[in-house]
Amino acid sequence: MALIVQKYGGTSVGTVERIEKVAERVMRWRAAGHDIVVVTSAMSGETNRLLGMAKGIDANATPRELDMLAATGEQVTIALLAIALQKRGQEARSYTGGQVRILTDDAHTKARIREIDTQRIRDDLRAGRVVVVAGFQGVDDDGNITTLGRGGSDTSGVALAAALKADECQIYTDVDGVYTTDPRVEPKARRLDKITFEEMLEMASLGSKVLQIRSVEFAGKYNVPLRVLSSFDEGAFEDHPGTLITYEENGMEEALISGIAFNRDEAQLTIKGVPDAPGVAYRILGPIADANIEVDMIVQNIGADGTTDMTFTVHRNDYSKAMDVLEGVAKDVGARQVAGLANIVKVSVVGVGMRSHAGIASTMFAALAREGINIHMISTSEIKISVVLDEKYLELAVRTLHEAFGLDKAA
Ligand code: ADP
Ligand code: ASP
Ligand code: MG
Repeated sequence: MALIVQKYGGTSVGTVERIEKVAERVMRWRAAGHDIVVVTSAMSGETNRLLGMAKGIDANATPRELDMLAATGEQVTIALLAIALQKRGQEARSYTGGQVRILTDDAHTKARIREIDTQRIRDDLRAGRVVVVAGFQGVDDDGNITTLGRGGSDTSGVALAAALKADECQIYTDVDGVYTTDPRVEPKARRLDKITFEEMLEMASLGSKVLQIRSVEFAGKYNVPLRVLSSFDEGAFEDHPGTLITYEENGMEEALISGIAFNRDEAQLTIKGVPDAPGVAYRILGPIADANIEVDMIVQNIGADGTTDMTFTVHRNDYSKAMDVLEGVAKDVGARQVAGLANIVKVSVVGVGMRSHAGIASTMFAALAREGINIHMISTSEIKISVVLDEKYLELAVRTLHEAFGLDKAA
């Protein structure tokens, strides 16, 4: 008998019929003798709908009220699932994050979990109940409802699994595992049986939205066995085991590249002809940080004729704000020109095998060159290479790289 935390995403609880299917799956796991804690997302599209209504009233609605509003989506699905379980003769109780006491900091809309009180859940499990917990939400020290950032139910699931020392955290979604790249962009993408925490962390932070990045951080830190699988596969678990996210093992290093991630949410800004003097990077990026804009990639050219150029990327939503700040900066530092591109994307290849192999970058650049795809920026770390491209090349680049690294062929 095991204790399993199962998280069901928006599509998996997207209709009453889907919720009944989830109840049936939970019944099967119960029948096999396991203790089950379920974490649900809001029905697909619901969080966007709720936030859209708020934006309709005021684009600058306060984060506290946005959290109060967005957290209601998950309250609907937990109650419906508990009702569906009770109808099947299974005792069940649903709880909001605040009722469990999932304690977070007070950073509304992107709160971090600090502590989880597991007493109530343990009591229910001992009494033979299935516990259904609202994902994405918690409560701060003052009792305000907080949310954990988009996609945050993954993190609720993993954090609960860590706090309960569960045997496994299963993330049920609309794909049957983690693929070599988003199967919506490359239909030849292949499901991975296993991927390391480190690689999954890179994939998530480079744009693969299959798992929220914080959930992977949490699972790695607290050593929670994490599995991604489909809520649409009806057959036996053994036939559809999904993808296990695990520590590096012998035999896992064979693949040079595990996957390709991409991020469509980026924009690029350039400041040209900046007098090349100590402190110039700070004078440019300091005001950007002060405006609460997060910078991703930064490239500064080698100075020539006493001036230099700097290019950096920001979230696309911050593009016009960043441009305004940069225009002010350009005047202050005596730069020649400011330029920008809002329609760029970042495409990254990820793999722990890169550590011990040369030539990954040249394979990547050669493949992109053959297709006539121009690279705006490049950045590398030990296990990834990222390039910034025009958005129109995204699909072509992903498919080209997928083929160039042989990801469509079984490892
Ligand atoms: P949920 O609502 O269940 O949380 P998400 O939409 O957040 O589901 O995540 C699942 C989606 O992630 C898939 O439908 C797929 O399009 C996308 N995705 C992106 N990259 C990958 C990848 N490497 N492997 C699998 N799915 C991916
Ligand atoms: N409902 C939230 C969102 O759409 C959280 C989640 O689904 O994980 O972002
Ligand atoms: Mg998700």
